[in-house]
Amino acid sequence: MHLRRALATLASLTLAATVTALADPASAAAPPPPPSRAVAAALPGVHPTGQTRRAAHRLYVVAIQDPGARAPVSLATARASATAAGRIWVAQTRGAIPAFPVRGARTLVVPGSCRVADPWRFLERVGATAFPGVRFGQGTANHLVVFRPNSCPLRWGAGLASIGAYEHEGGRVLMSTSVPSVLEHELGHNLGLRHTNLALPGGRGSHEYLGGYDAMCGDPRPGWLSVADQLRLAVPGTARHVRVVRPSAHRSVVRTTLHGAQTTRGVRGLTFQDPATGSRYVVELRDGRGFDAHALYARGYGRSSVSSSTWYAPGVRVTRIARDGSVDTLSVRSGRTYRTALGARQTLVGPGGRFRVHVDALGRSTARVTLVVAPAHRR
Ligand SMILES: [Zn+2]
Repeated sequence: MHLRRALATLASLTLAATVTALADPASAAAPPPPPSRAVAAALPGVHPTGQTRRAAHRLYVVAIQDPGARAPVSLATARASATAAGRIWVAQTRGAIPAFPVRGARTLVVPGSCRVADPWRFLERVGATAFPGVRFGQGTANHLVVFRPNSCPLRWGAGLASIGAYEHEGGRVLMSTSVPSVLEHELGHNLGLRHTNLALPGGRGSHEYLGGYDAMCGDPRPGWLSVADQLRLAVPGTARHVRVVRPSAHRSVVRTTLHGAQTTRGVRGLTFQDPATGSRYVVELRDGRGFDAHALYARGYGRSSVSSSTWYAPGVRVTRIARDGSVDTLSVRSGRTYRTALGARQTLVGPGGRFRVHVDALGRSTARVTLVVAPAHRR
């Protein structure tokens, strides 16, 4: 959700502050300027400029104590959760965010914190009380993370975050759990990322959050960031290792060997734009190794929803970057189950039959794939 709302002062909300660690307003560095849109994007629709910009980010953590709510998150737990999530983003952005430390941590006593009507106004007020003089969002790369007690109802889900206009904007997060993977997900929103969803074949619709594999879905043990989101964040090195298939008047046939999405060598993705729809697709390999060895998908798992059952496993994954920036995991039907990854000798036919991804061979850490894209003029 976006923060661009009027944030009026809420006089009725009383906040009693208990300082346990001092904020460091002086550390709030000058905001980096927004990326220039005049620079031609290396990959249209992926990142405004395609150029990596580096900026350290900072976390400001508030643990709320509420006399009327059970199971508060301790400041130590809140700090540990934020530290862990910040470290993961430092790792996944490979230098674009060189540091993401906790710069301030405070406990606030806030009666009625579970009955907040407007979460954005609440975050604004808590931030101003806990860290006066520190600005959040608006190009500051400062992130306010407020942990409510675990007993608060999940009215806005386990976490709620502003969606950054670009990767170094910063933002605000409201947490109703201290699970680090949830905070990792919410900070991804602050960096401008949207959800990883599941797209069913043949226009059977999509399921939000159910795209599997990375932090922007709802999995408790997510793997490394998708190549699509790596491109969106202009993660250093990614674009050089992604093979771009340009639209042509003839049928394009590209054969390549893919390496895991979390690795740093070799071709890690194939990308192309469907000229008929403007949608960008990225083909990647999820091999369940390295960082991903502990991810939920690495050993395969199934999930049933009202309309389908889905099987998530290692293999070749085809993603689509939607117009709003969310990432769809395309699936193939296999009997009564939808599969999110292709194994050896399996094929995914894209929407309208405009492209085809075939896995020629699947090894432990590489996949040989053939991509066939229809001519650009075809509708
Ligand atoms: Zn989300």
